[in-house]
Amino acid sequence: MNPFEKENRSLKRTLHVLISKAERNQDILRTFQEIELRLLSCNRLADLLDMLLVNLKEYFRLDDIDLILFDPEYTARELVEGYSPPSNRQTLRFSDDYKPLKKLYHNPDKPLLINPNSEVKSFAFPNSPYVASCALLPLVRQGVIIGSLHLGSSDSQRYNKNVATDYIGHLASVISVCIENCISQETLRRLSIIDMLTKVNNRRSFDQELLRELSRASRNNYPLSCLFIDLDHFKTVNDTYGHQTGDRVLAQTAQTIKKQLRKTDFIARYGGEEFAILLPACVSSRAVQVAELIRNRVRAITLRSDQDEAFKMTLSIGVSTCDPTPHPEADLVNDAHRLVASADKAVYQAKEMGRNRSVYIPIDHVKPTQNSLMDAELMNI
Ligand code: GH3
Ligand code: MG
Ligand code: MG
Repeated sequence: MNPFEKENRSLKRTLHVLISKAERNQDILRTFQEIELRLLSCNRLADLLDMLLVNLKEYFRLDDIDLILFDPEYTARELVEGYSPPSNRQTLRFSDDYKPLKKLYHNPDKPLLINPNSEVKSFAFPNSPYVASCALLPLVRQGVIIGSLHLGSSDSQRYNKNVATDYIGHLASVISVCIENCISQETLRRLSIIDMLTKVNNRRSFDQELLRELSRASRNNYPLSCLFIDLDHFKTVNDTYGHQTGDRVLAQTAQTIKKQLRKTDFIARYGGEEFAILLPACVSSRAVQVAELIRNRVRAITLRSDQDEAFKMTLSIGVSTCDPTPHPEADLVNDAHRLVASADKAVYQAKEMGRNRSVYIPIDHVKPTQNSLMDAELMNI
């Protein structure tokens, strides 16, 4: 082989290596871009957490992934109430304490690539003693650490000092923006539909949900029941124990009622001391049982005033049910009026009959345009 041929071969080999390197880098870049797009498309915090804890673990073929969110005001916790990652190799923690995060990141502008000692391991990977190398990503917004994402590998060479941190540093910035965006978007959405005192839905969202549920009931051919709940002699609670105790009783009662419901049921604060509930796919006899369950549960609770005086609260509950009828959309508004008017009338009757009871009124006996409905058929329980 002459020297030219030899050089030519060597150049070809070098070229081949460079091309495969470039192809590999392009693949990595494509994956990274895909991850970023998916992260940026999340607008619910729970979806974003799934992306971070489940999908990211798969994308990066990690052995463990952990996320700590600095959440001193419980904002994130309220938004993802009930959410938990699918396995213990993915942990999600919320922290009120800034100090451990500050201690971990001397320089919060850069990810840490280390073979963790036992102290770091127990902080960053509490469920996985097998992590041999890791990338710890500070999540920072406007100079404040809002969280910390920990990528763990059982390969001790995976994250070492020689690995470039440019991309994961950039990824940490994208994740930080996504977390902040999801929290603000969802908080805004929540503020418009949630009653801040009782933490259940507000009247506006009830009106919207009522039409949605009636439409769903008509499409799926099932009944929709409605409960109207009014606290008995609530003014006396305010007058006797003060408004603050009254507020607390309202919040506690709302949460007690909520606990008796299914996930698919819908509860809203309808007015001052009144709650409205929608029970999809629930026949009238079952709706009456639910009303009685709620009434007995609330009655069983001993409440305490701010001065620690014990007292009880009772409820008057109106029940109505809309049986399934295939409808054009326009009739739904009429059905909504009739369902609400019946439940409202039933509460009124429960009050008339001495309070602390449930009353059912079939909706066919109520005309929404009439205020006086004295001829309504009553079924007292
Ligand atoms: P009834 O058994 O006939 O329903 O009697 P009631 O006292 O519950 O009903 P009434 O309509 O006379 O009074 C309702 C009271 O609820 C008066 C109002 O001050 C109180 N209320 C409404 N909203 C709130 C609130 O957000 N916080 C507190 N503490 N009280 C409230
Ligand atoms: Mg009332
Ligand atoms: Mg009342």
